[in-house]
Amino acid sequence: MTTFAEELKTIEEKVKAHLSDGRFQHCLRVKDYAIKLAKENHLDEEQAALAGLVHDYAKERPAEDFLKVIDQFDLDPDLKNWNRSIWHGVVGAVMIREELGINDPAILDAVVNHTTGDGVAMSPLAKVVFMADYLETGRTFPGVEEARKITDQSLDAGVFYQLKHTLAFLADQGNPIYPKTVASYNEWARHFSSK
Ligand code: GDP
Ligand code: FE
Ligand code: FE
Repeated sequence: MTTFAEELKTIEEKVKAHLSDGRFQHCLRVKDYAIKLAKENHLDEEQAALAGLVHDYAKERPAEDFLKVIDQFDLDPDLKNWNRSIWHGVVGAVMIREELGINDPAILDAVVNHTTGDGVAMSPLAKVVFMADYLETGRTFPGVEEARKITDQSLDAGVFYQLKHTLAFLADQGNPIYPKTVASYNEWARHFSSK
């Protein structure tokens, strides 16, 4: 019988083989932060660890790989108008299923939503991975300590904090914003607004 630790090690080797060292170390830190947030929120730590470890598995793949998977698996053709920033989660989840053999729908859903977030019905595991990606110990952006404190108090408040700041950052840079990121922001803004 394979233990969870052995399974995690096997997956870890495969993730490592597909990523630069810097990105791989980020994945290990996201795994650790996801475990911390899972503990705080009484969620399954093994699911959180695995989802955190694999979340950026596809981040360094050539564009052709993503375009092929979009066709082969009949994903939304509008995806072709975007880029790796968006593809590595939504399309990357298919690669993780096909290439790493991870079939747990909750883990795949957390990977799909890790860049854009999702509305208020977002699963607890997806929230954990979304926040662990933002808050892992290697992140140093201004406000990260505040964001960590807020998230320790409330995972939902953390999700809204991240969406608010990412949207503002993308707009400030003049970047296009993926519609799902805007939709996620709107749902949480309504949820937290008294108006
Ligand atoms: P990373 O993979 O660990 O770097 O983190 P993410 O998966 O959260 O984000 C990947 C990149 O996508 C970052 O540079 C984000 O700023 C960017 N990003 C997040 N949401 C959007 C969006 O809606 N539109 C665009 N164009 N970029 C986004
Ligand atoms: Fe990512
Ligand atoms: Fe990441």
